[in-house]
Amino acid sequence: MTSAPYSAATASTRGSRLTTAMRVRRYLRAALRLETSATRLEKQVRDYVNGSLELFWKRQTIYAAAAMLCGFYYDLQVAVLCYLFIQFTEFCDTWLSLRIVKWKGGGLREARRYRDLLLLSAVQSTTAIVLWAGIVAHMEGISSHFMPLFFLFAAGLFAAVNNHQIPQILLLRLIMYTGVFLYIPIADLLHVRPPIQSFLWLQLFTVVFVLFFVIECSVIFLRLYRRGLDQLDELRLERDRVQAAYEVKSQFVSVVSHELRTPLTSINGALGLLRTGAYDADPAKARNILEIAHKNSIRLSALINDLLDLQKIESGQMSYNFEEIDLSDTIDECIGSMETFAQAYGITIDFKPPERSAIVVGDRDRLHQVLDNLMSNAIKFSRRGEKVHVRVRRDADRILVEVEDRGIGIPPDSRDKVFGKFTQVDSSDRRSHGGTGLGLCIAQEIMAAHGGSVDYSSTLGEGTTFVIDFPLKDRTK
Ligand code: ADP
Repeated sequence: MTSAPYSAATASTRGSRLTTAMRVRRYLRAALRLETSATRLEKQVRDYVNGSLELFWKRQTIYAAAAMLCGFYYDLQVAVLCYLFIQFTEFCDTWLSLRIVKWKGGGLREARRYRDLLLLSAVQSTTAIVLWAGIVAHMEGISSHFMPLFFLFAAGLFAAVNNHQIPQILLLRLIMYTGVFLYIPIADLLHVRPPIQSFLWLQLFTVVFVLFFVIECSVIFLRLYRRGLDQLDELRLERDRVQAAYEVKSQFVSVVSHELRTPLTSINGALGLLRTGAYDADPAKARNILEIAHKNSIRLSALINDLLDLQKIESGQMSYNFEEIDLSDTIDECIGSMETFAQAYGITIDFKPPERSAIVVGDRDRLHQVLDNLMSNAIKFSRRGEKVHVRVRRDADRILVEVEDRGIGIPPDSRDKVFGKFTQVDSSDRRSHGGTGLGLCIAQEIMAAHGGSVDYSSTLGEGTTFVIDFPLKDRTK
């Protein structure tokens, strides 16, 4: 009668143990990862642009000074031409930066587009700088190339300190600067081909050493910036988690208040009616009303007990008294305590103890609670005159208890409702069968604390089999 073989049921156990909270957390994390990459890139682009605009006048001063030195000591025409080229790249860069400042923000695609445009603009401005340094070095002929090398070093350091927000731009600048930085002394070496003792070789070695220093600086700034971004992401994640927890909590409080109010209203109504004395002359009717009040007070106390258990589980304060238990004894005790309940529904419970004793390590009272819940559900949802079968089975490394009924069954895709809080598969269940909708949610947590799980397989209209499983005694240690 079961819709799925047990192997499949057991295989899906992990899935069933995924509580709604876990699923929400997973979904949140996935959504956040996507959002994070978009907001992260947007922040990088904005940080880069803001830094670049802030340094505008500093750059202008440096370029003006370099142009004056170049014009005075080397060639005025070269100085003017290079300065104009640099000013053109500055114009493009600033225009793009101002556009990005006005950008309202958006998805990952737009952030990527702006990053790529900034990268293009960086290619342009870096070309202007390395060209300028290369031309000056060329005009110097064979020399120490103090000015162009020092300017390239300063430009490299400037990029390391100020361009770490977008690693691609930093990398591009460093590669271009390094290329010309190395080209200048190597070109001299190729031209002169001096012995190793020559100052030209010393110049190349010094350049390589300085390059390492610039790269080291870049890596440090890049790491610091990345760490800042990671911390920002964590803060954002924490904020969303707190917000989600707050929403779940307030939803829970409103559901609980509603659940408590329903039976309380009924008790109040019944007592109010009796107080008026309207039924003094009709004891049968008064008894009826008292019966309703009694049923509701039982429901109220069951609800409060479940809520207390749930609170203990969620705050990690549920204590377990683990000991060796023979499952057959516990099942017998549960069947005994269910007798009157089963009789009221016209159901008999069938249990044949297994040939080999089924010893597990567990908390007797809590296992009682789980088995009571499974059996009472099987009874409640069976048709009159049916049987509920309880069995103990053994797998390779687990002991399983099955509670099988031929009742109304559970529709497919109802797992969330079956194991959810205050949820019942059919909203009319509560009216016709009672129950708080918390039993299986608690049973799931109790079984998890035992290293086991709860699962079910069912066919709508034919019946349901709930299975709980435990690790074999010697495997729990
Ligand atoms: P309740 O206290 O309402 O029974 P549970 O958490 O124990 O809460 O069960 C949740 C819901 O799962 C039930 O209301 C019912 O809709 C469904 N359910 C549980 N066991 C069975 C079963 N044996 N047959 C059919 N439906 C079941």
